[in-house]
Amino acid sequence: MKVLVATEKPFAAAAVEGIKKEIEGAGNELVLLEKYTEKAQLLDAVKDVDAMIIRSDKADAEVLEAAKNLKIIVRAGAGYDNIDLAAATAHHVVAENTPGQNSNAVAELVFGLLVFTVRNFYNGKAGSELKGKKLGILAFGNVGRNVARIAKGFGMEVAAYDAFCPADVIEAAGVHAVKSQDELFQTCDIVSLHIPATPETIKSIDYKTVNQLPKGGILINTARKEVINEPELLKLLAEREDLKFITDIKPDADADFAQFEGRYFSTPKKMGAQTAEANINAGIAAAKQINAFFKDGCTKFQVNK
Ligand code: NAD
Repeated sequence: MKVLVATEKPFAAAAVEGIKKEIEGAGNELVLLEKYTEKAQLLDAVKDVDAMIIRSDKADAEVLEAAKNLKIIVRAGAGYDNIDLAAATAHHVVAENTPGQNSNAVAELVFGLLVFTVRNFYNGKAGSELKGKKLGILAFGNVGRNVARIAKGFGMEVAAYDAFCPADVIEAAGVHAVKSQDELFQTCDIVSLHIPATPETIKSIDYKTVNQLPKGGILINTARKEVINEPELLKLLAEREDLKFITDIKPDADADFAQFEGRYFSTPKKMGAQTAEANINAGIAAAKQINAFFKDGCTKFQVNK
């Protein structure tokens, strides 16, 4: 089987080496399309491949239409909103992601950002500590669970809400399961967002929701910028000088948020998953999933069921 790795922003060399070892070790052929600049290059490269691995590359209807032999496409990473799932299904292509491979990287960044925030962005003034503070985790998925694990090491009180994960699973991890998203915002000093971008969650983090945070509350977003209702959050930050908003995903209205100096921080680019380990893990997981699909028909990580 011919497997294409199509990456506008290539994997690290060690990841490519690992992917090659996996794919070729299973008797499949690997082809690379890296740093492509035109969509036409992608459309040409997909023409005769049986499988493909992508990162943030867009697999839209046109790409899926051009990939006549394609049977499986794997997004190396958690989010898969860059794949047109309806088009994949229409072309009988299995679409998968590689959940969990970068979740420790994102979770560690949450704490890097939180320490930076409670120490006043390292401006030299006395700050506060995370120990004893109550952290609310919105969505107890792969990232949320890693955040909970690390938070306990900091001596934080940890609560979580997940619309689909049963409370007993959350409690079994030693985390207090609250009954609603509102309760999480009402009872936690810091709320960390780990929800996916879905029709239910897009723009759901709005004025009313965030305004429930107690005095001095911190909102941290390492999920997706789409889940924030930016105009409403801007309005709230203008009204409540005690609130802080921290993210690794620059909002569209970054320039407007920047007026809240000392209460707003965004990393220059999305960087939660930007570690060598996450890059290698996700790439190799994608290769293993493709091998398992061709060998046993395994579709465990299919997202267009
Ligand atoms: P996951 O699929 O493992 O977990 C998502 C969780 O959200 C699930 O437990 C699900 O039940 C829950 N959920 C879905 N809809 C919900 C809702 N309406 N309310 C409450 N809970 C809901 O995903 P993950 O790997 O933990 O990733 C979480 C988020 O982090 C995603 O948005 C992903 O795109 C983002 N992410 C960001 C980076 C980064 O670089 N900042 C890297 C990886 C992932």
